Amino acid sequence: MENFVMPGEKVATEEEFVAGSNTFVEEGVIYSSVIGNAVKENGAVSVSAAGREIKIIDKNMLVLGTVTDDVKSVIFVKIGDINIDRKDYLALKDGKIIMDRPRPGRFGGSREGGRGDNRFHSERPVKPCAVGDTILARVLYNDKDSYTLSLNGNETGVIYAKCDECGSDMLSENNSLVCSECGHREQRKISSLYNKPEDIKKLFV
Ligand SMILES: [Zn+2]
Repeated sequence: MENFVMPGEKVATEEEFVAGSNTFVEEGVIYSSVIGNAVKENGAVSVSAAGREIKIIDKNMLVLGTVTDDVKSVIFVKIGDINIDRKDYLALKDGKIIMDRPRPGRFGGSREGGRGDNRFHSERPVKPCAVGDTILARVLYNDKDSYTLSLNGNETGVIYAKCDECGSDMLSENNSLVCSECGHREQRKISSLYNKPEDIKKLFV
């Protein structure tokens, strides 16, 4: 038995079948992760990809995105669909990066602590990226409403940025970004693949 399904379309439940290739499971329901024919045989359901291979972005995958907002300890990222050769990667949700918070022990201490503690906590945390930056990130969690992203790792981080002051391209230099025109500097978590689109493309082929 075969039928044509779309990425994200329900193909069966875990009570009925074992999830096979090109499928993913959420709360007991098996969904297709590609466009293709759902095939149910020997107690398993799998999907054979037809034509272009379409994948839904999932946990542990790399994504490209643009930083859209930065509110307190959360950085919001619009994730772009990626179309490379015969593969399409679809992002059905936006992403977010959660900044480290003070440890619980320290947080409790700072409430009743002296001035020294308060001064320590009022320091602005260093953000790994800023609004407008293009980033390469890894999906840490595939949550219901968004992807939680990580910038830990050499290849993840900012891959392209423009100068806040004059809008020119920023260059990567000694672990900081320097404007190619006005010399303005910014601190970022910079990807080892900063401004190397060909190398970034290879990650997705
Ligand atoms: Zn500049």
